[in-house]
Amino acid sequence: MNTVPIIDHDPKPCKPAAGQPVPVPTRLTFWGVRGSIPTPGPTTVHYGGNTTCVEVRADGQIIILDAGTGLRLLGQQLIAEFDEQPLDLTLLLTHTHWDHIQGLPFFIPVYKPKSRLHILGYEGSRHGLEVVLAGQMENPFFPIALHEVPANVRIEELKEVNFSIGPVRAQACVANHPGICVGYRLFTSGGSIAFFPDNEPYSETSPPHGLPGDPTADAQARARSERQRLIEFLRGADVLIMDSQYDCEEYRRHAGWGHGCVKDVVSLAIEARVKRLFLFHHDPNHDDAKIRQMEAQARELVAASNSSLEVEAAREGVTFELPAAS
Ligand SMILES: [Zn+2]
Ligand SMILES: [Zn+2]
Repeated sequence: MNTVPIIDHDPKPCKPAAGQPVPVPTRLTFWGVRGSIPTPGPTTVHYGGNTTCVEVRADGQIIILDAGTGLRLLGQQLIAEFDEQPLDLTLLLTHTHWDHIQGLPFFIPVYKPKSRLHILGYEGSRHGLEVVLAGQMENPFFPIALHEVPANVRIEELKEVNFSIGPVRAQACVANHPGICVGYRLFTSGGSIAFFPDNEPYSETSPPHGLPGDPTADAQARARSERQRLIEFLRGADVLIMDSQYDCEEYRRHAGWGHGCVKDVVSLAIEARVKRLFLFHHDPNHDDAKIRQMEAQARELVAASNSSLEVEAAREGVTFELPAAS
């Protein structure tokens, strides 16, 4: 079964001098790493079957990246950890595809009157963010409407790409994925984390959306410039969590679908001088053995490039710490 990490919310790694604040590391936890649809069952136990949800704790903030079915587990953890204390949470949404919002109706903190949840994202493809999120909880899909939940839920459509969550600076960047979809980069005191759960890296063989299979010079030039734009956005990130749904052979059959392959994602991360890459948004048809194989392939690509990039496949229940700023 999935392992739920024991999170010490207030770790004290060393004894500080009197009056000196205790440095707290930035911590990220994977609650859902799967793409498209949950995949419970014996063949996905190791990496997990819940859809996209990552928790970042940094600089006094609890920031949730996407609200896939992994959000349900995070809700249980938060209630177990904080009991009846009021929670103040921020949820950043990359887009409103089902696998990124479906956990919201099952997130226990929204049923606690003292909790506050600030949801930030960009406009849905055809409707406003609030309309889309409320829609999945309307009768006949769900028994409780979003406006009826007891918590203080505030939905805010972002208009700018630069914003802040408390002391954490955030940036958004448009992703190459059908509809409106972004990736985020969070700048915390422990380092920066980039999150692109759904994205197809641009390459000259996979031109941007709207130009499927178009090998013209214009499409290639646009692909080159879009790729460079993404490299600049990711430059020097301490952690990159990125859609690596396919292997090379699968990707050939799915080019233009808006998801990445291991080879393109590794090459992008190396070029952007990212320090650690988590392969993410695992394909629902991939069992644990296949994901292990893709992780091994990613490491071979890194070794062949003589790069120092650390790479691993994201796994549900795992916490990763970035060192506290001194
Ligand atoms: Zn997705
Ligand atoms: Zn999507």
